[in-house]
Amino acid sequence: MQLMEERILKDGVVRAGNVLKVDGFLNHQMDIDLFNEMGKEFFRLFGDEDVTKIVTIEASGIGIACIAAQYFHVPVVFAKKSESKNLDGDIYTSSVASFTHNKVYDIRISKKYLNENDRILLIDDFLAKGNALLGLLDICQQAGATVVGAGIAIEKGFQEGGQLLRKRGLRVESLAIVEAMDASGHIEFRPQ
Ligand code: 5GP
Repeated sequence: MQLMEERILKDGVVRAGNVLKVDGFLNHQMDIDLFNEMGKEFFRLFGDEDVTKIVTIEASGIGIACIAAQYFHVPVVFAKKSESKNLDGDIYTSSVASFTHNKVYDIRISKKYLNENDRILLIDDFLAKGNALLGLLDICQQAGATVVGAGIAIEKGFQEGGQLLRKRGLRVESLAIVEAMDASGHIEFRPQ
């Protein structure tokens, strides 16, 4: 998606440890016009998949998922990273190793909101090593739901997540794939 690549080049900042900082439009301040275009594109890609629910992970996936859901007209369910009194009853859980925070955390979704009739589109802001998506896939599998694919805003193609998940047969559609980046600010995209 050209718009996403242009925005990364304009506002993205490469940080140590292979981190691309996009706080100005995706991860802190959110550009809703851009989110709308992302939602349209996810709908163009997955609109014929009879998606019943969009599943994401807090926090940065939620905004993207909600705007996309306005095109699919389906609910959004987000995996919670902390225990909460609002999460009562039976829950699905999985463990995720965080790329940006360097720790392992549990994610959880109430059994009320996923079932075997669901056709799930996973959405997240970044795909790096693939651990967040693997955790969400695990939970969808526990629920017996069908995962039709994953829509990602920015994939870092030089990290292994994309290849790992595509090899497992998951359809992964990333709006921009960063092939290489360095501290001087040079960013290269995979042609799509
Ligand atoms: P993964 O689980 O694929 O290794 O990493 C995905 C998660 O880590 C995303 O949900 C995102 O929040 C975070 N993440 C990974 N790499 C980056 C990055 O380069 N920049 C930002 N802002 N977040 C990242």
